[in-house]
Amino acid sequence: MIAGHELKPGKNITDHVHVEGTELHVPHVLICGKNEGPTVLITAGIHNAEYVGIQAAIELSNEFEPDDINGNIIIVPLANRSGFENRTMSTVYEDGKNLNRVFPGNPDGSEADRLAHMLFEIFIKNADAYIDLHSGEGYENLIPYAYYLGDSPVTEASKKMIDCVNTEYYVRSCCCTGGAYNIRFKFIHYFIYLLAEHFLIYIPLVISHVPV
Ligand SMILES: [Zn+2]
Repeated sequence: MIAGHELKPGKNITDHVHVEGTELHVPHVLICGKNEGPTVLITAGIHNAEYVGIQAAIELSNEFEPDDINGNIIIVPLANRSGFENRTMSTVYEDGKNLNRVFPGNPDGSEADRLAHMLFEIFIKNADAYIDLHSGEGYENLIPYAYYLGDSPVTEASKKMIDCVNTEYYVRSCCCTGGAYNIRFKFIHYFIYLLAEHFLIYIPLVISHVPV
């Protein structure tokens, strides 16, 4: 079960989750492959002004078909929706917090804390692999690169997943607090964090390298 939906082979579900104690609703798409396999989570818009990842996630959610995939793909294309709608520069509109600094969140905190808690409990915890899409925001011009977990039981698997991304820089990250991609440091799962403008080409490749 993910967000109240049973993951039945062949299903393609679009829905949203309400963040308890707030006015926030988070859209998501669940694509359940016809065959068994890992559950891969893709999030974008944790930084709401990083539009490349958001657009890529929307396009990917239309591109993946249950017939073509093994396992499940969960896509959260716009995690910080209120920041997006109110045009903040990558903070949650209601409390001004950077969502990527408050994971795993707090169910009793302000909007960003509650949103992080929901994302962690409902989506991140239930995935075997996690890909978080970022890019330059607003005025930033970034050189594409990819993070992978640098000091964890899944470091090797995480590195294998991003080795198929053709980018000049890879960052072995040993930071283990606050961000969505690194908060599961203590769990046996896989994380990568991409900053690239070629998401549509590379994400399917990365997914095909998720260990089973
Ligand atoms: Zn970002």
